[in-house]
Amino acid sequence: MEKNIPELFGSSVFTDKIMRDKLPNDMYKALRKTIDNNTHLELDVANAVAVAMKEWAVENGATHYTHWFQPMTGYTAEKHDSFICPVDKGEVIMDFSGKELVKGEPDASSFPSGGIRATFEARGYTAWDPTSPAFIKDGTLYIPTAFCSYSGEALDKKTPLLRSMDAISREAVKVLKLLGKDDVTNVLTTVGPEQEYFLIDIEDYKKRKDLIFTGRTLLGAPAPKGQEMDDHYFGNLRTRVAAYMHDLDEELWKLGIPVKTKHNEVAPCQHELAPVFDTTNIAVDHNQLTMEIMKKVAEKHGFACLLHEKPFAGINGSGKHNNWSLSTNKGENLLNPGKTPGENTQFLLFLSAVIQAVDDYADLLRLSVASAGNDHRLGANEAPPAIISMFLGDELNSVIDAIEKDEYFSNAEKVTIETGAKVLPHFAKDTTDRNRTSPFAFTGNKFEFRSLGSSLSIAGPNIMLNTAVAESLSLFYEKLKDTPKDKMDEAVHALVKETITKHKRIIFNGNGYTQEWVDEAAKRGLYNLKATPDAMPALIADKNVKMFIKHQIYTETELQSRYEIRIENYTKTLHIEALTLKDMIQKQFAPALMDYIDDLTQSILAKKELGIDAAAGTQTELVKKLAKIYDDVVKATVKLDEDTTKAEKMEEDIDKAKFYHEVIVSDMEDIRTVADTAEPLIPEGYLPYPTYEQMLFYV
Ligand code: ADP
Ligand code: MG
Repeated sequence: MEKNIPELFGSSVFTDKIMRDKLPNDMYKALRKTIDNNTHLELDVANAVAVAMKEWAVENGATHYTHWFQPMTGYTAEKHDSFICPVDKGEVIMDFSGKELVKGEPDASSFPSGGIRATFEARGYTAWDPTSPAFIKDGTLYIPTAFCSYSGEALDKKTPLLRSMDAISREAVKVLKLLGKDDVTNVLTTVGPEQEYFLIDIEDYKKRKDLIFTGRTLLGAPAPKGQEMDDHYFGNLRTRVAAYMHDLDEELWKLGIPVKTKHNEVAPCQHELAPVFDTTNIAVDHNQLTMEIMKKVAEKHGFACLLHEKPFAGINGSGKHNNWSLSTNKGENLLNPGKTPGENTQFLLFLSAVIQAVDDYADLLRLSVASAGNDHRLGANEAPPAIISMFLGDELNSVIDAIEKDEYFSNAEKVTIETGAKVLPHFAKDTTDRNRTSPFAFTGNKFEFRSLGSSLSIAGPNIMLNTAVAESLSLFYEKLKDTPKDKMDEAVHALVKETITKHKRIIFNGNGYTQEWVDEAAKRGLYNLKATPDAMPALIADKNVKMFIKHQIYTETELQSRYEIRIENYTKTLHIEALTLKDMIQKQFAPALMDYIDDLTQSILAKKELGIDAAAGTQTELVKKLAKIYDDVVKATVKLDEDTTKAEKMEEDIDKAKFYHEVIVSDMEDIRTVADTAEPLIPEGYLPYPTYEQMLFYV
């Protein structure tokens, strides 16, 4: 039977249409006002919404509700309460009040707070976010919420994200007013994240402690074949994978997540999924849900879905491209180069705002994507370099050049542009060429921030991006606000020229993977924050703290707490990796290797007895080689063990993070390098876990 997809889409979501049908008209209007204009929600409205939500949820089989939030773990959290309310004579009714909808009080003592919330004051609050729709999953009504402390500090990723959306809207509206756009009351940031992932057989997964505990393989020699044939990229989908993707699409559609694109990626067993873009807040919620559902549906199909940035050494890791743009409440995309001159002036101003933002706050953008997992990708010639730069494409680049030099510019189609005189060509959407090595590329009518790791919540990078661009716009507004109307065009062009001249160092159109670029970037004075500990101080750097406070994104306390959480998260991740590797070596790899050495030795002795020396000679060489590897691996593991003990005693600060990066990571690499030379020499069946070959080529 054919499924009715439009009917299926959003069938588990408390949509606007259901709200309109179920709520009294005045209540619906009041709620809409809150959602569209960010106004305060009255309790009687909340009560009416709660009744409607509960009715709909119960009709659709829900028995519980939960305040769904995004603590600093990077995952989502939920605590379920049932709707039941005991009444007389041992009976119950299904009940849900406005107060329960609006505010929750989970016991929050175990969520990371970076010292904000002392354990004696463990209370945390969740507050309903009416801008992201509620939905039903597994018999529970999910209510998207923000999570904060008793004293109002944000303990989550949603609160600062909503604040950053407010900030950029506020500043953009002010600038648009100067340009004569009086009817714009609201500017939204839009995001479409492309999500990469690996699928391997669940039985293989269950045999690898490293995948279970750390998400990536800590040992493993390459298979005879890797990704060098490029035969997986966009290749046809294997039946089992196609069935998974089909099921996944449907599950996500039910939740109103508009997934659209799916294909095989470069590495074997690697795939990608992308939704149609949405406003940032909803895109963030949807991406968190997508990652969760991807894993669940995988289990149903006998797969494990790996979201780690680098599950396998030697083949591409997984990233997430954050496509980002700005659009007015009238539906105009502010990063669309546009057809008419007036729009182009506006486009150039917003383009300049992004250029300035990326140059001034490249350190924050870098920080926003830094993690132990992503350290394996950035700068490793498979993902953008750790140096943040921007790619504009040939056409825009010529425009920028011409503006800077006050020249007339003509492009290939012989469209002339007079810079001061606002005649710019319309850029067809697909004329921006592709530069896969650029971390931040203009792609037609949006920017694509490509440095994100696959498991990352996209909240962080968008908070940074929104705030940095809000800051540029706010500085632009200050410069333009006293300009008379008839001089505005000229003033805007002067400002665009000034901005481009000052910030063009951030623009780079060449190959980001080369050493020349690293050297050139250093000459230009760009940040090259190679690893997570190098990037972390950006969060509490003076200039950045000032900006966050100015736009009311984070308080100083919130920043300090987030800085501490980041450090802790980083060191804990590497600590778990170190312990897991030690465990695998001691309990699995070393004993397996010794078993093989013993079997070989027995076999040599047996041959000696029979007077056969030919094979015994080569076997003896092999035993010597393996025995040396055994010794080296065990010694390297002892060193890792000692260093981990040292690390454990260190205070939780940036030096500890550096120690993990410099010492522990390199200890782990030393072990792996030696162990991986032995793996191809060990016959199948000795190691208790599957090899790369078995995991990656038999799905
Ligand atoms: P790619 O060629 O980079 O693989 P895809 O088509 O897979 O591109 O993904 C592009 C993403 O960009 C999609 O999620 C799409 O919805 C999103 N996108 C398109 N326009 C905008 C916009 N104005 N704002 C934000 N995201 C957008
Ligand atoms: Mg992309």
